[in-house]
This record gives sequence, C-alpha cells and structure tokens, in this order.
Amino acid sequence: MKSKVYIIRVSQEDNRENICAKLNKLIDSSKVLDFLKAGQSAALKMHFGEVGNAGYVRPEYAGVISQAILKRKAKPFLSDTNTLYSGKRTNSVDHLALAYEHGFKPEVVKARVIIPDDSKSENVKEIKQDNQYVKNASIAKLFWDADAIVGIAHFKGHLMTGFGGALKNLGMGCATRPGKLFQHCNVAPYVIVKNCTACKACIAVCPAIAIALKPDKAFIDPQKCIGCASCLAACKFHAIDVKWESGGDQIQEKIVDFAHAVLSNKKGKAAFFNFCLKITQECDCLAQDDPRIVPDIGIMASNDPVAIDKAGFDLVTKAAGKDIFKELHPKRDGMKQLKYAAKLGLGNLEYKLVEI
Ligand code: SF4
Ligand code: SF4
Repeated sequence: MKSKVYIIRVSQEDNRENICAKLNKLIDSSKVLDFLKAGQSAALKMHFGEVGNAGYVRPEYAGVISQAILKRKAKPFLSDTNTLYSGKRTNSVDHLALAYEHGFKPEVVKARVIIPDDSKSENVKEIKQDNQYVKNASIAKLFWDADAIVGIAHFKGHLMTGFGGALKNLGMGCATRPGKLFQHCNVAPYVIVKNCTACKACIAVCPAIAIALKPDKAFIDPQKCIGCASCLAACKFHAIDVKWESGGDQIQEKIVDFAHAVLSNKKGKAAFFNFCLKITQECDCLAQDDPRIVPDIGIMASNDPVAIDKAGFDLVTKAAGKDIFKELHPKRDGMKQLKYAAKLGLGNLEYKLVEI
C-alpha cells in the first residue's frame, strides 16, 4: 500500500505568519502527530544552522510543531548533536549559544533546547544491529529515550548524499561524533602539519594513545586509532581533519543504517516534516545565504521517512525539469539512500501525495 505524504504549498510571497498558519493547517489535516499520547516525550530533531547559514528551518515553525505537540498534552524538546567538523556546533555550549542566536529560544520554540555532550558516556546509546554496513550505531541517548521522534528537516542538496531530507536528518543528525566519523570516513583523522602548534591537547584526550609528537608535530597512528573523534574537538587550531571523501561510497547506506537504529524503538511513534523552502545546492552546514536551485515548493508531512524524501526528490526534479541534485553533485545518486532504506523496511518508495 502506498504511504501518504501531505503537502501544503508555500511560495516566496508567503511571509512567516502565513507559513505558520499553513503549517498549522498541515498538522491538523494530515494528523501525522495524532499518534502522540498525553505525557509522552517527543524529540524534535532539528538542525539549528551553521554560522551564516540562511536555509535552516525557522524557529517559529519549530514553535508551531511544538505547540501542536503540547496541545496533545505531550512534552516536546528540540535537539541536535554536535558536529564532527570544527565550528560553532562542535561542542554543546557553543552549539546551544548558536541555536539561541538563530532564534531557537524557549519562548519562541515553546520547548527546551537540549544539545547532548556525547563526550560523556551517559549521553550515548550504542545500538547493536545486524545490518550490512553498521553493526553498532552510536547515537545520542536522548533520541533513544524519548517516547517519540519528530524529524524536522530542511530539504536541500548535499555534497555527500545528493540531497538531504528526513533520512539524512535522522541518520547523520542523531549520531554521536564517533558515529559521524564512522559514517564519513573509513580511515583515521589526520594532522594538518602546518597548523599544529604541538599543544598536545589531542594527545591528552586520545583514549587509544594513538597520537604522539613526532618530533614536534602531532602524528596519528591509524593502526591504533579507534575513531572516537575526540581529537577533532580537542584541537583548537584546526590542525586535525578527516578525509571526508574516503567513506563516500558507503556513506548513504551507513546513514540509513543509523536511521534504522534510531527508529528501531519508535514504531508508530515517528513523524516527519520536510521543509522544501529555500532549497539550496548544499546543506545547512555549508550553505550561507545561497541562491535557491528551484522556487519554494511547500511543507511536507508524513509518518514515512522514505516516502516523504522520495516525494521531495520528485517535486524538486519536476520543478527543475531535470534531476538537478545529480547535475549539482554528479558523483552522488540520492536515490541510493532511498532504495536502501526501502530494502531495510524503513518505508515505502511508493506514495500518494495529498494536497492540503
Ligand atoms: S591539538 Fe591540534 S595543535 Fe595541539 S598538538 Fe594536537 S594537532 Fe597539534
Ligand atoms: S579519533 Fe580518537 S582514537 Fe583516533 S586519534 Fe583521535 S582521539 Fe585518538
């Protein structure tokens, strides 16, 4: 049976007030949040936008979804995990400060914003899996502990996956930093020698004693590295990086395996919103105030993460008159993530689009 994907159309002429009203209508008509029961906690998986990014889903829209959850007497909170790359979202303190700067304050989003510190083991959940690419998915525990999950994604292009929507938001977005390192990369991080000041901060945090000064610059022994990603956060001089492309062939399957892990205790307890607005070539970690690759399309809602991403992909392709994601990222076929997710039983590639 086809999954239902609901859409309410939004154009660039709509202001934020209009969009909030449309989002409310979408929630009421689609009933995608009606599975929530009084007292249940609901994790709203967000991306609060990197510094300078203008494409992230606006706090007012997260606030509308929070209020709809509160109306059902459930308990929403907003969250995201820290990034692997070094920036303003690498650690929980700066990440929360940036979320506030971008307007995600409790009075606007009607919920608390929590950024878990995955360097503390009590914030990490390791999920054993029998999937082809991931046997142990390391995710932020608060997503596992929540009774329900609501994915709120900006649908847009992506350097590594062609496009990113609900699956990417869950699979990469709920992963701890070691989980993200595993997805991105098949090899250990490396030292950018010219940036290294020999401060030894990375050596102090490495649990595998994989880093040493050789002779006056840090060196990472790939044979000893266990991929925990601690050194990436510890280095304040941008002297440790990852070969981002090295995991490229399998990154989509790994992301989907992580999404599968995140959803493994959320059967019938998940909803997804894809905001097909300001659709950019790159994701909200990279894009600044980048131009749209197609005009705004609308907001989508579904309880099926595969169907909603497939519908988003089809609508963007139709609006562009071609597979624009493939044109912009020729080495990446975004359909790979969808086909693999359908194979795992995460959702349906066939859907019925319901216009609200
Ligand atoms: S933390 Fe960075 S700068 Fe310091 S020794 Fe390690 S690589 Fe070099
Ligand atoms: S990723 Fe972890 S184990 Fe590997 S070198 Fe860095 S701190 Fe050490």
